[in-house]
Amino acid sequence: MTHATRRTLVSGALVFLLGLLPLTTPVTAQPADGPPASEPKNVILFVPDGFGPASATMARDYLRHYRGVHQLALDSIQTGSVRTYSTSSRVTDSAAGATAYATGVKTYNGAIAVDTLKRPLGTLLQAAERRGMATGLVATSRITHATPASFSAHVPNRWMENEIAAQQITSGADVILGGGKRHFVPKSTEGSKRKDDRNLVTEARDAGYQFVSDRAGLMDVSDGPVLGLFSMSHMDYEIDRDPDAQPSLAEMTEKALELVSADEDGYFIMIEASRIDHAGHSNDAAAHLQDILAYNDAVAVALEQARSDGNTLVVSVSDHETGGLSLGRDIEKDGSVEGVYAWHPEVLHRIHGSHGTMFDAVSEGQKALPAETTRADSVNVVTSVLSDIAGIDDISDTERTKIGNALDSYALNFVVSDMIERRAVIGWTTRGHTAVDVNLYAYGPGRNLFQGNIDNTEVGDILSSLMNLDLEALTADLRDNDETETPAEASGPSVGSDE
Ligand SMILES: [Zn+2]
Repeated sequence: MTHATRRTLVSGALVFLLGLLPLTTPVTAQPADGPPASEPKNVILFVPDGFGPASATMARDYLRHYRGVHQLALDSIQTGSVRTYSTSSRVTDSAAGATAYATGVKTYNGAIAVDTLKRPLGTLLQAAERRGMATGLVATSRITHATPASFSAHVPNRWMENEIAAQQITSGADVILGGGKRHFVPKSTEGSKRKDDRNLVTEARDAGYQFVSDRAGLMDVSDGPVLGLFSMSHMDYEIDRDPDAQPSLAEMTEKALELVSADEDGYFIMIEASRIDHAGHSNDAAAHLQDILAYNDAVAVALEQARSDGNTLVVSVSDHETGGLSLGRDIEKDGSVEGVYAWHPEVLHRIHGSHGTMFDAVSEGQKALPAETTRADSVNVVTSVLSDIAGIDDISDTERTKIGNALDSYALNFVVSDMIERRAVIGWTTRGHTAVDVNLYAYGPGRNLFQGNIDNTEVGDILSSLMNLDLEALTADLRDNDETETPAEASGPSVGSDE
């Protein structure tokens, strides 16, 4: 189906939806004296990467058990669910998933705002920028990672992060906050991943950006534009974060909104809770949970703003589910296997470090052992770390044997996640993504359009329509100027990991 045909169909769907709405003013009408109240002046789009329906239940159950809170901030604004498949697979990656939201077009896994022929696609952020709106990108991953990249760059392969960084600092975004400094500093800088001597931090400063690299620096910023890069690679998981060094997602959200809110033309900001996904890839339930709670706190900040100003649309939608998370699972007992009707948030509550933090501690402990050590000594290092960081003090002989057979961190990750899963009565079915539909949330003017079970491209189309953006004209201009066009290809590479 051609892009134009699909848009026509989507427009038809919009008209149909509008017919069902209890609105007196069609949302696409634009009166001479300004937008009607059913159109938002501002749009905040959250993308909680890898956040599936079970993740929402996990976080809500945890809050109810430990804080007596019966609702996520998200719960009151849930409007529907979204299909996430890409052109290359029923199981999308973050690049194709985010491109669908950013451009309204389905593409192949690995594509960053390019179509299946690898031609650039205009994005919501770029079109908003062109319309004079303030714009922002916030993420807890490297800012060059697939989701923020898909709103601010065009490359055929998501791992071209040096190129993505260079495109981002000329994207016009007023606020850019996240990790990924290694793609902005010259190759001579320790930890840099650049292959050249370009210093994009200096280039950004020359273009008018303030640069900050820690929480205190960010808190001091009072006007934009600002580039904040708080780590060389991804920012820390919430469960590991030093609150004096790195800002929380809620703090970044609050600052970003403060910086873009003054614009008379409104703003568009994309905020990614990136590492929910990474914890899913690691089958790290406690890190997954704490990053979800941090995301929920950030949504609460945005909702407070939207409720007070009345003209801000908040949409939240994951790009896909990660990990195939289950609450409840089979457990072997007395020689048989039974499905257990329970799950135990208290097991996750006792854990206060990510798997990575545990394995770093194991590695330190192994290094400190004397030269003449037995396997039992090495196993004791692991069990001591599990006691200290994961609160696990009831390790069985069978588990000690499994640990002894898996003393490198890759193998140990499987053993440790399995130990935690069985105690918490939860399960992960994959270290990759799944095809399950994800929850859709919306609040503010235009939220009624985000109803039912819709395709991920419709989210992009509806947002574009509500902001009166012309993505097709932008796409045409990008192609006129595109000198890097590559030969036609039906689909791109399949990407199995988001790390
Ligand atoms: Zn992922």
